[in-house]
Amino acid sequence: MKEHYDVIIVGTGAAGLYCALSFPERIKVLMITKKEADQSDSFLAQGGICMLRGEDDYENYFEDTMRAGHYENNKRAVDLMIRSSNSIIRDLLDRGVRFARNSRGELDFTREGAHSQPRILFYEDVTGREITSHLLEQARTKENIEICQYMTMVDLISEDNICGGIVCMNEKDEIYEIRAPYVVLACGGLGGLYKNSTNFPHITGDALAIAMNHQVKLEHLDYIQIHPTTLYSKKPGRRFLISESVRGEGALLYDRNGQRFTDELQPRDLLSQAIFSQMEKQDTEYVMEDMRPLGEETILKHFPNIFHHCLEEGYDVRKEPIPVVPAQHYFMGGIQVDLGSRTSMEGLYACGETSCNGVHGKNRLASNSLLESLVFARRAADDILFGKKPDKCRAGSADRSRYKDREALMKGYRKKVLEEIERMEKEHE
Ligand SMILES: Cc1cc2nc3c(=O)[nH]c(=O)nc-3n(C[C@H](O)[C@H](O)[C@H](O)COP(=O)(O)OP(=O)(O)OC[C@H]3O[C@@H](n4cnc5c(N)ncnc54)[C@H](O)[C@@H]3O)c2cc1C
Repeated sequence: MKEHYDVIIVGTGAAGLYCALSFPERIKVLMITKKEADQSDSFLAQGGICMLRGEDDYENYFEDTMRAGHYENNKRAVDLMIRSSNSIIRDLLDRGVRFARNSRGELDFTREGAHSQPRILFYEDVTGREITSHLLEQARTKENIEICQYMTMVDLISEDNICGGIVCMNEKDEIYEIRAPYVVLACGGLGGLYKNSTNFPHITGDALAIAMNHQVKLEHLDYIQIHPTTLYSKKPGRRFLISESVRGEGALLYDRNGQRFTDELQPRDLLSQAIFSQMEKQDTEYVMEDMRPLGEETILKHFPNIFHHCLEEGYDVRKEPIPVVPAQHYFMGGIQVDLGSRTSMEGLYACGETSCNGVHGKNRLASNSLLESLVFARRAADDILFGKKPDKCRAGSADRSRYKDREALMKGYRKKVLEEIERMEKEHE
């Protein structure tokens, strides 16, 4: 790792990688990540990635996204995401990403909750891994991209609201100051702050606390999505997702008496509420999800990952319903950005789950987040390449004593984010 780069990207999920790959080779990019480069939520995405199937689907796709988001979405951002989807998918195909195809060899589409028609591309039930592993593999071959693992951003370098780089720390608590005129925060969501979450535990919203400390504007920190169906388990750790496309393909939900109690395909927030209230009414810790209506062939072909994981946990989904419970899953709020992924600080960008460009409004429509991450990661790179150059940051050396106690520092960041979520929740009451 050197002391100066053209661009620093924090995070090696789909957003960070796609941003890095959008630069020409003359731009020297440093990417850092807290753990191994493939330990990001992008690798966990199961259901798929949305694509506009044709002009006659535009209005429905737009309306589905807005309705799921309680009409709090930024309409221009939604339009941009939908209109960019075909070029993003074409680019992914060119990069060798595989999606399911029908018997005629055409792209196949699945459906998830709150979508009025099938418009989701998928690769078995590991779409995120298929997309992100291709991006990572390509980033690793690029001369201009350096990936540094087990390196945690602990601060930004800034002066007079101009960003000049980051302070980061390796696993031995050695501190590095890295300078660049552009920093892109692609640090994912905040599921690691919650006991029950589908996210990796190390994804704890650090960038949000750091941004707050530098007076960068944030938005809607209390817009947190609960996924209705994760496999119930008494074990601690990450919750295993039972993808919404399982319900999209026909799985049913039952209460403790084996009766259906709600519409399985309503938006995530409404379905989670319906499940929570059923659990409360019947004093249970879960409800049951029945994948048998899908048939053995669909289960094995479309959902092999879910099938094998459930089998390891002692459930054969071909033969029996499984216990499911809602858990924290996604974060709609974040660092406020414009349509070029620019934050309120000069030279500082944010994309992916860390950012809030308003696409998702109050509640994300299923399979819109991978697409949103890629669209706005590329826009960040475009803005860096072609937008107005930031003034030079005149910040001097950081006071390293502030980072000595890593545990206390990171704990403080987590506390700050949780307190801000609580404050915003109260404000919205
Ligand atoms: C189980 C699951 C299933 C999902 N299914 C779908 C789906 O089917 N379709 C869909 O569209 N979306 C889905 N999503 C959501 C989607 O995967 C994410 O929203 C998206 O991938 C976020 O990408 P990202 O690049 O912003 O963040 P991530 O992929 O989470 O990457 C964040 C990166 O930031 C790094 N990082 C964080 N903090 C620091 C720090 N302080 N210093 C250094 N590095 C740091 C992490 O190590 C990681 O590399 C799913 C999510 C989960 C958890």
